[in-house]
Amino acid sequence: MADMIDPFGRAITYLRVSVTDRCDFRCVYCMAEDMTFLPKAEILSLEELDRLCSAFVRKGVKKLRLTGGEPLVRRDIMSLFRNLSRHLDTGDLEELTLTTNGSQLQRFAHELADLGVKRINVSLDSINADKFAAITRWGKFDKVMAGLEAAKAAGLAVKINTVALKGVNDDEIDTLVKWCGDEGFDLTFIEVMPMGDIGGEDRVDQFFPLSLLRAKLSESWTLDEIDYRTGGPARYMRVKETGGRIGFITPMTHNFCESCNRVRVTCTGTLYMCLGQDDAADLRAPLRLSETDELLDAAIDEAIGRKPKGHDFIIDRRRNRPAVARHMSVTGG
Ligand code: SAM
Ligand code: SF4
Repeated sequence: MADMIDPFGRAITYLRVSVTDRCDFRCVYCMAEDMTFLPKAEILSLEELDRLCSAFVRKGVKKLRLTGGEPLVRRDIMSLFRNLSRHLDTGDLEELTLTTNGSQLQRFAHELADLGVKRINVSLDSINADKFAAITRWGKFDKVMAGLEAAKAAGLAVKINTVALKGVNDDEIDTLVKWCGDEGFDLTFIEVMPMGDIGGEDRVDQFFPLSLLRAKLSESWTLDEIDYRTGGPARYMRVKETGGRIGFITPMTHNFCESCNRVRVTCTGTLYMCLGQDDAADLRAPLRLSETDELLDAAIDEAIGRKPKGHDFIIDRRRNRPAVARHMSVTGG
């Protein structure tokens, strides 16, 4: 089977799959509190998700990340991890991982580690319990902390993802750097992206450019450039004082599209070739039309053949509407 090469010569080796659009949190920058979720009938079964992921692995995907919504709230999600881990055993897949809000890690960390998951991303925007509650609306801080402990105990490497939010957690940057250093977690800061309607909140008010954050950090910490890459868009630096790594994902102020190696599939089987563009391909129809994978393979090839060069997110007051209408919880971030 030929590998997937897009029109700009980029090999597609990384697939992110949103296994559910549902979530047990309601983060202010991600969803409105009264978020409407997809009808269950539209959502791919775990067996269909396995078939879809396996098709991509056969086509050269080496890294697979399950995300959401909150992947660990999908019922019986461990059976999908278990099935997909066969591709780690054969060596066809190099990494199986997930992005989670951490709420269910206490339950699942050990099993994930047993199935071959080595590193996980945990999204955490504050380690101040009150602030955490204000950002996530429904999140339980103690549960996430216990989940992180469980992940450490299971031997999982943890990277904390923090969305920088102006006037919300920008005073906590140093605390987070120190805490991650002490815990042995990597830390990546992310700029808020204009994705999906979020009710009354305003992203212009939330946006905190990482160029500013980085300048602020360098007042307190010695940051050394390092070569470390995880196959994603983050650029990393080493904090001399803690020995920890800090990454920066700057979709708004820095264009990282040239080296894009990834595509995303939603829980309804829609393939998005770019996080910041609306063009998509339906993989659910070919998946359901036939028990063999010819139609599915052809639909994937056709879609990769029109992967766009990049995105152009803008947050400004005049537009004041999301650059793309779908939520991050649909495409999975
Ligand atoms: N629920 C899981 C979690 O929070 O880790 C996985 C899905 S969540 C959509 C994935 C990541 O997207 C999280 O790190 C979250 O902070 C980030 N995210 C959500 N909406 C965003 C937005 N509008 N801009 C930037 N990051 C966003
Ligand atoms: Fe849920 Fe993750 Fe979105 Fe927060 S960022 S509401 S945890 S999907």
